[in-house]
Amino acid sequence: MNCLFCKIINQEIPASIVYEDNSILAFEDVNPQAPVHILVIPKKHIATALDLSTEDNELIGQMYQVANGIAKDRKVADRGFRLVMNCNRDAGQTVFHVHLHLLGGRSMTWPPG
Ligand code: 5GP
Ligand code: ZN
Repeated sequence: MNCLFCKIINQEIPASIVYEDNSILAFEDVNPQAPVHILVIPKKHIATALDLSTEDNELIGQMYQVANGIAKDRKVADRGFRLVMNCNRDAGQTVFHVHLHLLGGRSMTWPPG
């Protein structure tokens, strides 16, 4: 499968890994949009949020638990951070393997651009 994030999972492409367990991988975004910008992904290939099934409910919960832990480690939990999952074109999804963006370390505007 020609999926960039599956290649990172399979160590075919290098990444700066922040966290790994049997089902989840987290790594630094190559083009950070904030002082903390980490991507949290399931090791299972799921293309978009729309492709999540009820079977994946626990997996998605684990992604949030991992993101919360990293936010605490990076000392952005108390001041605040943003978790974003873009879905399809209008949201700007460019990599079709679901991922949670963990953004923190600066104040952010709302609504997003
Ligand atoms: P999306 O736009 O799909 O929500 O987010 C994709 C993210 O993946 C972008 O923030 C982009 O910077 C990041 N990205 C794209 N290619 C690579 C890569 O090869 N390595 C890493 N670490 N991040 C990548
Ligand atoms: Zn994939």
